Amino acid sequence: IATASPLLTVKNLAKRFGAFQALQSVSFNVRPGEVLGLVGPNGSGKTTCINLITGLYKPDGGAIQYQGRSIGGLPSHRLAHMGINRSFQIPKPFKSLTVRENIEVAVAYGGRGSDTAEIKRLLEFLELDLLTDRLASELTSGQQKMLDLARALATKPALLCVDELGAGLNPNELTHVAQRLRELARSGMALLVVEHLMDFVDQVTDRLIVLSVGKDIFSGPLSQAVQDAQVVEVFLGA
Ligand code: ADP
Repeated sequence: IATASPLLTVKNLAKRFGAFQALQSVSFNVRPGEVLGLVGPNGSGKTTCINLITGLYKPDGGAIQYQGRSIGGLPSHRLAHMGINRSFQIPKPFKSLTVRENIEVAVAYGGRGSDTAEIKRLLEFLELDLLTDRLASELTSGQQKMLDLARALATKPALLCVDELGAGLNPNELTHVAQRLRELARSGMALLVVEHLMDFVDQVTDRLIVLSVGKDIFSGPLSQAVQDAQVVEVFLGA
């Protein structure tokens, strides 16, 4: 991991909403096979970072490079075709479609050709295989989160951004999905994980970036983060 060159490099990323500077300057990179945690108090800009990287918003400053290409401002569907996708803090499945149909829509969206056997394996991987023909509206909130992750994975991302996956999962689901994210990283995927639950962060991430009011203030493992005076202050002050 340490020697692989970055898949994603974010440099001095900036984003304004009207007069409000949500991101001032954020820089980090993610390598293939690495799980990078993005943590920080509410409002520090974590979701905005993901929204910029996945093309929901356009940056006002700075650069986003993926596989050596500048991708800042490209629309989400183009990024999905290039191998960047994400799951959402609040999943929005097509409720009147089944689990399988939701995944088929995602496969078509991603344009990276998951076949039937791959979809079957994906459903098993996330323990959705017994729910394949259920309507999304019939799923529990935890199952809907798994479906949302499945939809992202169905586009075969090389970079997967995961926004607050832990919230709303029960302890069994948390343990299971933490293992799954580690397996994805072992297979070479790069993961950017926004998460509040520190146990989950501890289990899943290799390294953290800490954000505070739109700036990155720390990069390193959790064991170092908890000893960093500035990080401690940001979290205790939150
Ligand atoms: P985090 O994910 O760390 O909780 P966000 O990235 O969601 O933080 O938000 C960072 C700041 O930007 C917050 O103050 C939030 O209110 C603001 N913000 C985020 N999205 C928008 C938007 N679409 N319009 C206006 N303000 C926004």
